[in-house]
Amino acid sequence: MALVAFAVAWGCGRTERPNVLVITIDTLRADRVGCYGFALAHTPAIDGLAREGVRCTNAASSAPITLPAHCSIMTGLYPPAHGVRDNGNYALSTEADTLAERLSAAGYRTAAFVSAEVLARRYGLDQGFDLYDDDLWAEDDPPMFMFRERRAPRTADRALAWLEEWATGKPSRPFFLWVHFFDPHQPYNAQSLELAVLTPTPYDAEIAQADRGVGRIVDWLRQHGVLDNTLVVLTADHGESLGEHGEPTHGIFIYDATIHVPLIWRLPAVFPAGATYDGPVRHIDIVPTILGALGLPGGQATQGLDLLPAFQGRTAPPDVPQYSEARLAEEGFGMAPLFGVRHDGRKWIRAPRPELYDLRADPGERTNLYPGEAATSVALDRELEAIIADRTSLSAPRREIDHETEEMLRALGYVAAPEERAEMAGRDPKDGMVLYAKIQQARELAQSGEWDRVEKLLGETIASAPENVTARNLQALAAVRRGDLDTAEQRYLASLAREPRQHRVHGALGGLALGRGDLAEAERRFRAALDLAPGYVEAMSGLGFIEALRGDGAGAQAWYERAIAVDPTSPQVFRRLGDLFYDRKDYQHALEHYRRVLVELPQHFEVLVQAGNSARFLHDDDAAAAYYARAGHARPDSWIPPYNLACLRAVNGDPQAALVLLGEAVDLGFRTPTLLDENDDFAGLRTLPGWGELVSRTATAAATPEAMPEPRPAGVRAHPRPPISGVNMESP
Ligand SMILES: [Zn+2]
Repeated sequence: MALVAFAVAWGCGRTERPNVLVITIDTLRADRVGCYGFALAHTPAIDGLAREGVRCTNAASSAPITLPAHCSIMTGLYPPAHGVRDNGNYALSTEADTLAERLSAAGYRTAAFVSAEVLARRYGLDQGFDLYDDDLWAEDDPPMFMFRERRAPRTADRALAWLEEWATGKPSRPFFLWVHFFDPHQPYNAQSLELAVLTPTPYDAEIAQADRGVGRIVDWLRQHGVLDNTLVVLTADHGESLGEHGEPTHGIFIYDATIHVPLIWRLPAVFPAGATYDGPVRHIDIVPTILGALGLPGGQATQGLDLLPAFQGRTAPPDVPQYSEARLAEEGFGMAPLFGVRHDGRKWIRAPRPELYDLRADPGERTNLYPGEAATSVALDRELEAIIADRTSLSAPRREIDHETEEMLRALGYVAAPEERAEMAGRDPKDGMVLYAKIQQARELAQSGEWDRVEKLLGETIASAPENVTARNLQALAAVRRGDLDTAEQRYLASLAREPRQHRVHGALGGLALGRGDLAEAERRFRAALDLAPGYVEAMSGLGFIEALRGDGAGAQAWYERAIAVDPTSPQVFRRLGDLFYDRKDYQHALEHYRRVLVELPQHFEVLVQAGNSARFLHDDDAAAAYYARAGHARPDSWIPPYNLACLRAVNGDPQAALVLLGEAVDLGFRTPTLLDENDDFAGLRTLPGWGELVSRTATAAATPEAMPEPRPAGVRAHPRPPISGVNMESP
């Protein structure tokens, strides 16, 4: 039946199926959206989709955490089947059949735009996408802790640019576009004053900001006449607790605050308009329903159902259980995991202290009926067990441990290395939440740089739970940020004394040793870290750096290449490798590696200068000048780009331009008259009329008291080494 409607709508014999747009909004709880009844919401775009489509009132997330939930959305499998149980430590198996792969095979052009590091391609959701835009390194300088996200306006810009390109290419193929907005995820710091005024809380302002991103994409589709030929599906990966049950954010509990999600479908002529659907819906139903609506096979290979007939009112809503799990408490803290099932108005949570709720009478899940209604509990637990046991043929997921981006995961609150878990072992998350919430709060304060409050809060936490190395490590990090490195080292050592198997703590101690030039100690620490975690990229990179400092270029290169093999996107490793080749005067390879950095970090000042120098030594003066110009654009207050450009101009026949550029360099703080004497590049300038004046200006400037403590631009070598004429940048 659906196929008939489909054929009528899009014409028999014609190739095109409707486009598919899947929008996922991170951390969006259903009851904070206007069309879900929140009168203070500012969500006109989402509400508009609901007015013109089907709004599911009873949709459940399969996990209150980003990657596992998105894997369910994109595969139609529950976490026990797709195997991705947590952020950061898992990647979706290449054996998984994703929606993108299925639609790509059906002739769709596919593109994804994600806004958070936890969905980076290394976690496997890029399968089937022609373009997977996770280029978060290119964003503005991240705040503390390598926390990387992209705001809705930027993500929408990039998605719209792709749509423009699709449209101008005389689209002969339909598109599948997935856009992920991250804004409502904490920290809640929407930049728009206007949205702050329009909404009751910063969280709601972030939702409004994501809604604007939705609106721009929907408006584009409408203006280009393709909206009604595009199946739009909008949902959230999970909600947000906002303090309910003592949980500040999400990830630990599976109450409806984080499990009940919005889910909206819009495709006129196939999905009814302005309809609500009250039957149970799961993330795993999204793929089979999309495939069903398109008349494509594959839905049966999922664990979900094609709900289109039920949405259309042709069949009764299937009475299915809705499974959710939260493994973060276990994976992150060693607490007990939570497994739950919603069915027929009841929710059962399997935990050390089990819970049973009547969702109709008690939607806030405040009254635990367990151990009452024993028969219900037993029946629901049996259903739960059947779902957990229902594995597909998918082989074990790739498990990627000990990745350096775990620093970032920790910043997001998806904390704690496996060896840090002993402090929580076995606890029911309901009991561990108080401690968790305190550490979470300290982490948030750290993100906003409130180190005094961080110290105070962690001091209290450690006083009451001295075994908690997570708190100790965060306290050590606070000392690092304050510049009190001795205290930091003492704190890391105290943490190691409590729990010796912490590779990141060894890594941090290695970094501190490197900072004070103790290469032997640094090497010992990094090797200890690698013994514990063989895939730990930062330790490899540190060991490579040590070899480079010792002059063993081949040894350094071997370490860097090992690091890149584990993490092919880490700009810092490419930077160090580029520097290594540069120091060996292998400028071709140096430039190749600097270019890799610039893909991720196009505004990186030091790398732009180094790339310019490399190009110059390769006699590609145009490329060198272009890199210097970009460096000058990145840091207009630095004398280095005009100085290096002057070196270039001086030797390739434009001494007057060189003189002008050197004047600019002096204006910007160049204060080293000896360089003018010693740099052979300037030989041809020394007979020019303006030279004497330039030298005396430089000398005067250097002698001027207020100019004397001229801060060395970050990364500039104290003594540029001859014969290199341009100023070089040292490694971070
Ligand atoms: Zn999320």
